[in-house]
Amino acid sequence: MTFDELKLAPAILKAVREQGYETPTAIQAQAIPAVLEGHDLLGGAQTGTGKTAAFTLPMLHKLAMSRSVSNKFGSYGVRALVLTPTRELAAQVEESIRAYGKYLQLSSTVIFGGVGMNPQIERIRKGVDILVATPGRLLDLQGQGFLDLSTVQVLVLDEADRMLDMGFIHDVKKVLALLPKDKQSLLFSATFSDEIRDLASGLLREPRHIQV
Ligand code: AMP
Repeated sequence: MTFDELKLAPAILKAVREQGYETPTAIQAQAIPAVLEGHDLLGGAQTGTGKTAAFTLPMLHKLAMSRSVSNKFGSYGVRALVLTPTRELAAQVEESIRAYGKYLQLSSTVIFGGVGMNPQIERIRKGVDILVATPGRLLDLQGQGFLDLSTVQVLVLDEADRMLDMGFIHDVKKVLALLPKDKQSLLFSATFSDEIRDLASGLLREPRHIQV
């Protein structure tokens, strides 16, 4: 399997080549076609398998091929939301989105706790297509009326098991309740406890299962 066979936009393939990637990893080869076809996904994968690109590349492709949306503030609405357990992971994922999307006209930003809110509020106010966030700060900003999540089309829960281990299940469920029912959802986890399975079965619709 080559990246060219994955039917990603040329602008994305160019950025991928610049990263020095030659062939898709196992999770990328399985996840990318499934996400492009619009399926929900339950992915069993550890860090280091290339899972970030596995969800980011098809997500960027889909957003690049469709129109931006307007939110209730009259700026670009969030079309893709990635939730991560830690700020380090959030920052890393957003950096990957920037790298793979450098030739696309999409905007992204990252929000997490432990730093000032104002720069994050300013950034969101200008409008973003892709938002990467930790659950607590996301709920804070939403609760204060700075965020409109009604336009989300694609949701990614990254490292869902760590999210639960860190006690974020309640926050994650609150975030899910703020999102439209009709969306594409991707859940990645290294391990599958009953709690993760419950979360997945409440969220995902006829998901493709991928295990690497
Ligand atoms: P991740 O599992 O997403 O944290 O990725 C682990 C590492 O693999 C990162 O440093 C990526 O830049 C790298 N990587 C992702 N996909 C590929 C690929 N297809 N070929 C080579 N390296 C890759």
